[in-house]
Amino acid sequence: TSFAHFSFDEQLMHQIRKSEYTQPTPIQCQGVPIALSGRDMIGIAKTGSGKTAAFIWPMLVHIMDQKELEPGDGPIAVIVCPTRELCQQIHAECKRFGKAYSLRSVAVYGGGSMWEQAKALQDGAEIVVCTPGRLIDHVKKKATSLQRVSYLVFDEADRMFDMGFEYQVRSIASHVRPDRQTLLFSATFRKKIERLARDILMDPIRVVQ
Ligand code: AMP
Repeated sequence: TSFAHFSFDEQLMHQIRKSEYTQPTPIQCQGVPIALSGRDMIGIAKTGSGKTAAFIWPMLVHIMDQKELEPGDGPIAVIVCPTRELCQQIHAECKRFGKAYSLRSVAVYGGGSMWEQAKALQDGAEIVVCTPGRLIDHVKKKATSLQRVSYLVFDEADRMFDMGFEYQVRSIASHVRPDRQTLLFSATFRKKIERLARDILMDPIRVVQ
């Protein structure tokens, strides 16, 4: 598979060419067409596999479609991950590829300034990259709303469970509309993750790195 198979538009292809990737990684080859089709997906993949781009590229296509259908406030895509470092990395990739469409991304994580993050959320962003507890704090304080979210990603789900975020992960899923598209990434697929997948995904396709 080459990048041309994904039928991305010229703006996104331009950003991908700028990144000097020569070809899609296996998780991208398998995952991108599934995510573009609108189906829910479980990706069993580790860091280094190129999984981040595998959910960001289809996310950008989704947002551009959805923005026209549903103008308004609040993020269209939310990416939930375990740590501040991962938040910042994913946010950087969102900005890099989202530049093609002038989309705005905000990163909100524990340890960062609540006030600054709230201000960034209120200024408006189509993409929010977050750690679970901090997103919930902002929603409770009404700094943002999950009403318009229709693309939801949980990255490194097994690590979030190890860190004790199961309740928060499930709470976020339950506050996003049921007709959303959900993608779940995890390095392992143990019982607890399987159960989570059964509870928050609809008829998912499973992709193994
Ligand atoms: P990830 O697994 O998403 O953390 O990505 C690991 C690294 O691979 C990141 O530095 C990406 O920028 C890079 N990467 C993602 N996709 C590709 C690709 N198709 N070819 C080469 N490098 C890539």
